[in-house]
Amino acid sequence: RAKEAGRNQTVRFDPSMRVELERAVQLENDLRRAIEHEELYMELQPQFDRGLKLVGAECLLRWRHPRFGNISPYEFIPLAEKSQLIDSLGDWVLEQACRLLAGWQNGTGFAELYLSVNVSVKQLESPHYVSNVARTLGQHTLSPEYLQLELTENVFATDMPATVARMHELRSLGLRLSLDDFGTGFSSLTYIKHLPFDELKVDRSFVNDLENDEMNRRMVNFMVQLGHELGMCVVAEGVETSRQRELLLEMGCDALQGYLMDKPMGIDDFTARYLDT
Ligand code: C2E
Ligand code: MG
Ligand code: MG
Ligand code: MG
Repeated sequence: RAKEAGRNQTVRFDPSMRVELERAVQLENDLRRAIEHEELYMELQPQFDRGLKLVGAECLLRWRHPRFGNISPYEFIPLAEKSQLIDSLGDWVLEQACRLLAGWQNGTGFAELYLSVNVSVKQLESPHYVSNVARTLGQHTLSPEYLQLELTENVFATDMPATVARMHELRSLGLRLSLDDFGTGFSSLTYIKHLPFDELKVDRSFVNDLENDEMNRRMVNFMVQLGHELGMCVVAEGVETSRQRELLLEMGCDALQGYLMDKPMGIDDFTARYLDT
């Protein structure tokens, strides 16, 4: 009885919580069928080198829900991770990316572009992950060194010896590994030198505060140095102003991504905009 009353009270005091929970349950259910119903698609956000020449793109997953409209990956990726749907979602993204890359490499003006795919640490923890990636690569005719997998600092919160081994296996397939959202998570200076990352992506939050915060500027400067010392290429994400770009180039960043240069866009728009430029 007391329990019952408590439950009713919760509902009465904060109806928004129930709405949120219902939405999460609903979305998790719908996500199961999103692939077969063709509600998922990819957008590409271009990346540029220091000379502001296009050098690659990041694949960003989109979900057009039939009732709720576009749902942010910040909302549906955590749901997918919670329910293990992330494995099939991730396989789908990788398959799309490999097909796109194979097409680009087949004699187009995009033959030397990198393509980055976000990978959840949950996927990496699945024992089948490396063989999945190997199989998908094998199904397409492509040079894997132009394919890059982005992992977040959550890798540092896993069983490190197993993760280190798995990451080496992935790299031996010929692809590249990137450490995404650097500076916000669990990075450990003890382990970072053991992980075979080719690229370090400075998180958007640091880029954001560059202009007004001197301490922040020193932090970013340090991250660029650290990345370079460890032999990584350093990319800044979320570049929104020309002042930020200027500072990042001064600090030695190798590549830039952000709304200042371009937003994520559909594949057709990307091709129309950048092919032959
Ligand atoms: P992320 O990998 O760090 O991707 C960068 C996010 O920053 C993207 O958000 C992008 O649209 C946004 N962004 C890029 N430039 C700017 C800028 O100048 N200003 C601002 N304010 N934002 C900018 P998006 O597309 O909403 O994706 C959010 C996150 O969802 C991604 O962060 C990534 O962690 C995750 N995600 C997206 N697609 C996938 C996927 O296929 N698999 C997995 N596991 N995660 C994904
Ligand atoms: Mg990313
Ligand atoms: Mg990122
Ligand atoms: Mg980020």
